[in-house]
Amino acid sequence: MTAQLIDGKFIAQKVQAEVTEQVAAFTQKHGRAPGLHVVLVGDDPASQVYVRNKERTSQQVGMRGAVHRRPATLSQEELLALVAELNRDSNVDGILVQMPLPKHIDAEAVIATIDPDKDVDGLTPENAGLLALGRPGHVPCTPFGCMRLLAEIGCNPEGKRAVVVGRSALVGKPIAQLLLAQNATVTIAHSRTQNLADVCREADILIAAVGKEALVRGDFVKPGAVVIDVGINRGADGKLRGDVEFEAAKRRASWITPVPGGVGPMTIGMLLKNTLAAAERRAR
Ligand code: NDP
Repeated sequence: MTAQLIDGKFIAQKVQAEVTEQVAAFTQKHGRAPGLHVVLVGDDPASQVYVRNKERTSQQVGMRGAVHRRPATLSQEELLALVAELNRDSNVDGILVQMPLPKHIDAEAVIATIDPDKDVDGLTPENAGLLALGRPGHVPCTPFGCMRLLAEIGCNPEGKRAVVVGRSALVGKPIAQLLLAQNATVTIAHSRTQNLADVCREADILIAAVGKEALVRGDFVKPGAVVIDVGINRGADGKLRGDVEFEAAKRRASWITPVPGGVGPMTIGMLLKNTLAAAERRAR
């Protein structure tokens, strides 16, 4: 068997086209475009690239907004004051504070002050709680993107065995909760899991979100499984690879995401969807 590739680039373009249409309809109805505001502290090169992409794509779909660039020396109090100002500003629908923040800033404390209705990254304790309760709220963008990939290939999680490797608040846990909400039987594996290979071999849907190249070997994949590889690892050769041993896994899976070009491209599209949803909710 050779797996079919889940083309994240293509699906992300489809999401972007959908959002463009919906933003145009929103703007016509409410006389203003949805507004996404990104806060970037410091000059981390990767963050600069991510933020530029978010800015460009949000403009392409017709949203307004701004990037609030601040120096790495910004104090926690100054950052909290900026977030409070964006919370109060009625033109701001979505707020995203780009991670990582400089070490002297307590990122969790900052996230906790974002208005949950404007928390388009889905990271506030309130949105995490709503997700855990299976109630509507903003869902973190990468997990949201993974669910969209499954939907696009016609994979309905209901009744399936899903294994999520990784339990971070950003990726692993929310993906597990989203799969549970769609009635999968979910196992979460992590660094203390015994016999990871056997656990993974149970999975009809296998999600890897660890950050260790080739941790999930090809023979961990149950024949016919759908494999979503969230991991991003730069190899010694400079190339990006996922957490799954791709070539070997491809011979056993029915569907698999490549890295790059799988989950990665989905994240911005889902951020824009969350921003639009925030704008619609606030307009109501
Ligand atoms: P974290 O480092 O926060 O979490 C990693 C998780 O992997 C932890 O739960 C950890 O377990 C688990 N883990 C570590 N080692 C093992 C092991 N040997 N066996 C099983 N589980 C293990 O990372 P993130 O969740 O933030 O990110 C995961 C990956 O996804 C990274 O490569 C990151 O770059 C990528 N990523 C990709 C995005 C995209 O857009 N495609 C977006 C966000 C992240 P424990 O809790 O026990 O320590």
